[in-house]
Amino acid sequence: MSKQTVGVLALQGDFGLHCRMIERLDARPSLVRTVENLREVDRLIIPGGESTAIQLLIDTFNLREPLLEFGRRRPVWGTCAGLIVLSDSVDDPAIHPLKLIDISAARNAYGRQIDSFIDEGTACIHAVTQPFQMVFIRAPKIVSLGSHVTPIAHCRGEVVGAMQRNVLVTAFHPELTDNPAFHEFFLELDAVSL
Ligand code: GLN
Repeated sequence: MSKQTVGVLALQGDFGLHCRMIERLDARPSLVRTVENLREVDRLIIPGGESTAIQLLIDTFNLREPLLEFGRRRPVWGTCAGLIVLSDSVDDPAIHPLKLIDISAARNAYGRQIDSFIDEGTACIHAVTQPFQMVFIRAPKIVSLGSHVTPIAHCRGEVVGAMQRNVLVTAFHPELTDNPAFHEFFLELDAVSL
């Protein structure tokens, strides 16, 4: 079977470590910076970083419409700033999110850089709830979820991971841990047939 190609949006932020994890799972990572790059991938990760910068570069490189089109069918996963970019609404009017998942996000809701933390949470993957070490770096909070959104990860009493159809979001950074479970799960998500 040929390897699947996993796109990682590489405009700004933490894309390199996602690529390492994808390679570790024997899939092929592919940096996405243009519409042509996007056409060559089966699924896409929007990494952590700075959501304002990622958004600015999405619009500068005319990627908004192609990303919306891609995200209606193909598996897409946003970590941290990527969650903010994919959400339906954000508490910061500077962000015009892609609205690909029906959640509201609050930026920097755990505090400043100095308040970043690692803690053990739980992740529900393939209906099995398991402990998962979670790294939060100026993370957003998911403040509300629509009725079609499934919470799949929890930490400190908050929902920190969720999915709706082909769209997955995590407020934390699985690529900064040694546990590939989330990447594995993302690689198994199916595209949606319209
Ligand atoms: N605080 C950043 C933002 O609001 C997200 C931080 C991260 O991705 N680690 O965009």
